[in-house]
Formats: sequence, C-alpha cells, structure tokens
Amino acid sequence: MPILKRIPKVDKVLEWAGVQVLLRAHPRPVVLKAVRTVLESLRRDVVREMPSALPPEEVIAARIEAAVEQGTAPSLKRVVNGTGVVIHTNLGRSPLPEKIRAQLDSIAYGYSNLEFDLAAGERGSRYSHVEELLCELTGAEAALVVNNNAAAVLLALASMAHGREVVVSRGELVEIGGSFRIPDIMGQSGALLREVGATNRTHAADYRAAVTGETALFLKVHASNFAMTGFTAEVTAPRLVELGREYGLPVMADVGSGNLIDLARLGVGNEQTIQDFVRAGVDVVTFSGDKLLGGPQAGLIVGRKACIEPMKKHPLLRAFRIDKLTLAALEGTLALYRDERLALASIPTLRMLTVSPAELSEKGKRVVRLLRRNLSSSVEIALVKGASQVGGGALPGQELPTVLLSIRMAGVSPQEMEVRLRTGSVPVVGRIARGEFLLDLRTILDADVPLLVEALKALA
Ligand SMILES: *Cc1c(COP(=O)(O)O)cnc(C)c1O
Repeated sequence: MPILKRIPKVDKVLEWAGVQVLLRAHPRPVVLKAVRTVLESLRRDVVREMPSALPPEEVIAARIEAAVEQGTAPSLKRVVNGTGVVIHTNLGRSPLPEKIRAQLDSIAYGYSNLEFDLAAGERGSRYSHVEELLCELTGAEAALVVNNNAAAVLLALASMAHGREVVVSRGELVEIGGSFRIPDIMGQSGALLREVGATNRTHAADYRAAVTGETALFLKVHASNFAMTGFTAEVTAPRLVELGREYGLPVMADVGSGNLIDLARLGVGNEQTIQDFVRAGVDVVTFSGDKLLGGPQAGLIVGRKACIEPMKKHPLLRAFRIDKLTLAALEGTLALYRDERLALASIPTLRMLTVSPAELSEKGKRVVRLLRRNLSSSVEIALVKGASQVGGGALPGQELPTVLLSIRMAGVSPQEMEVRLRTGSVPVVGRIARGEFLLDLRTILDADVPLLVEALKALA
C-alpha cells in the first residue's frame, strides 16, 4: 500500500487508547481538532519526504496530546520577567502583593457589598470603598477611582473644561505611548488646548498671557517618560497653584506614575510624592494604580471636593468604572501603605525598586547554587553586573545597578536560547547583550525561581 494511504483515518485514531484518555479529559471538538491538525501535518511531511515508514502510533499520539495541550492552554499566562524593567507595560506592569490574595479570593468567588450600603440596607457607591483610604493617605479632601489613568485624565478634563480652554506648557505636551497624547486626549474631552511657552522653557508670564474669559484650567503634565536637560525652565506645581489662585482658576496635575512613598529618600529617582502635590494645593491630581503605586490597573483622582464631586455625576464615569476585582486589589494595596515599612516589604514593585545591591548579590548566589544543582553541566551559569530600569514611563534615565544571570549552553546561540525560553511552556523573557543571554535578578520574583529552574531544565 502506498505510504500516503497508510496514514490512519480520523475515526481510527479516535479509537486509540492514548486518544481515548484525551477524550475523557477534554471536550471532543478540542481533541478532534488536534487529531485533524496532527494528521494533516503528517500528510504534508509524507508528501515532502516520502519516508519508507510512518512514525509509530505512540509518536503520533504524543503529538496529538501536545496539540491538545497547546489548544487548551490559556492565552494569557504567567511569564518570568528577566528583563530588568520593573514596571513593564507589556508584561502586565505591577505584580500584586501576595498579602492581598485572600481578599481578592473572597471577592472574586462570591457576592460583595460592591454597591450596597450594609449599615443602611440600601444602594451604596462602589467608589466609597477606597475614597476614605485615599484621602487618609494623600491628605486630599476627596478621591475617585476609574479604570486607568488615561480615563482619569479624560474624565477630569471633560468634567472641568468641556468647551473651554486648558492652558498647558509646550514642554508638557507628552506622548505616553500606546496612543496616549495629551493634545489628543484634550480633543476627546471637548476641552480646547491652549499651549504656552517653548519646548524647553515656560515661564509664569506665559501662563498669565494665555488667560482669557474662556480659560477653565491650568494643567501640568508630568514628563514621566523622558528627561529634559540643559537650558530649561518650568513653572513648578506650587507656583502654578499661586497663579491659579490669582486668577480664580483650578490647577490639575497628571502625575502619571504617582508614588505615595518618598522614593528619592530611598535613593530611587527624584520624584515628588502625590502628597507633595496635594499639599501644594493642586486641585486635581491624577495617577496610575499599576505604576510606582504597585497595584492593579486603575486611575486615581484625588483633590478638592468641589472639583471631584461633579466627576462622580459625569456620564463618562459609567464608561470608565472600575471593576470589583480591581477595586478589591486596589483597596488591599492601598491599605498596605498605612504602614510604610509594610508597603516597602510587601508590594513587589516597591520591593524590586528598593532592593539593595548586596541583597541582589545574595539572591544571585542562591539562584546560581540552585540552578547548578538542578541543571546538567552543559548549561553554564554566571553572575555579571549590569543595570535595570524602572520602566512604565517612570523615572526616565534612572538606572539601578543590578546583578544578572548569564546563561550559556554549548551548541545553542544566545539568539536561539532567547527564542526557546520565550516560547517555552513557562515563558522566560530576558535579553541579549554583549553576545550573552542575560536575565536580571531584580525582576525575577522569588515565586518565579522554581519556574525558571523548570524552564532551564526543559532547555537542556
Ligand atoms: C502612564 C501615564 C498615563 C496613562 O496612564 P495609564 O494608567 O496607563 O492609563 C497618563 N499620563 C502620564 C503622565 C503617564 O505617565
């Protein structure tokens, strides 16, 4: 019989013992699709190579099992971040603190008082669960949370400046990436952009000259993802507040990657805290939940009651509303900030940003010992020095000294290693520099270490 004719029919294959096992564990259409895919690719191989024999039944069955596994694995999966970029937007920004796991669990799998006032026995507000906490932590009078910071900015502008002018420095008309550009957001909010100053220098007089009867707001945007040096001048938030008071205009600051802890004091960057902006009298401050804060994706708005109350009634709020899982994660993360030491120790983003070089070295030695114990000697592991980045459009140019794992394997190029680790069953993402494949220990969570061992074992 010609070899093509010997390729088994789908019905026959479904009767194989190995495939019957798969049928008991998975939906029939999934197994059927895997069988068809494997037989189709077998047919193509046979046509191309005209082998004298087909692979044995076990080999074909194993391919079917692999196809079923691939077909049923979730698309969104855990990744080991070896890039050294702490707030990595493509890798999900901030991993949540383990400490809030139980709280997330109880909200996710049951009903909750999301919009129910238990004391009064009547309808409540989902925003009430974090407002007090945010006011307590930032010193603001009022607070509101939405889906992300882009939504926070859009809602604030639409609520405070629809059909009127917003004065912004030309040095602050930033693009954050992913199509978030201040002029575009302004357009969408219905506010009219009134740009003032020059790219590198803007003065108080520039803001003054722009004020007309149509002016609604002074806006300050944090240049979070680039740094300007040289002949520059900007009007600081406290000075802009003075100007605002003079003209009876509110001042808004989009801080982007807001931090509630003074990281500069811990040797990381030179950013003001959200509390600094509130203390300076800024009327509305917006920032992200998943950047330096280290929580879930969310947009946080804090400031004066007179500005925030109207936002709570704005129709856009319904479109931007925060989901209950996010809210649970946000409340849990914010609560950790009541004790600064607890926040620094238990919020992964803060922990990774502030870990000392000595601690990283210790971690490096521990991981190397573990890897050497588990891997064959064909995999060469060494520690080298390098630099990590904050990421997430936070603290541009700030490099954090770090310790990297250098991994080499005879007969496997760094490029091939990078591809194989990235596409493995537990993806590991690293980088190639100086002709080596490198993984930054700063962003490898303790819980990732066993996953890394498995991934490297599979490589060998
Ligand atoms: C990141 C950032 C945003 C967008 O925040 P998301 O939470 O990603 O929507 C807006 N403004 C600034 C200044 C930012 O840094």
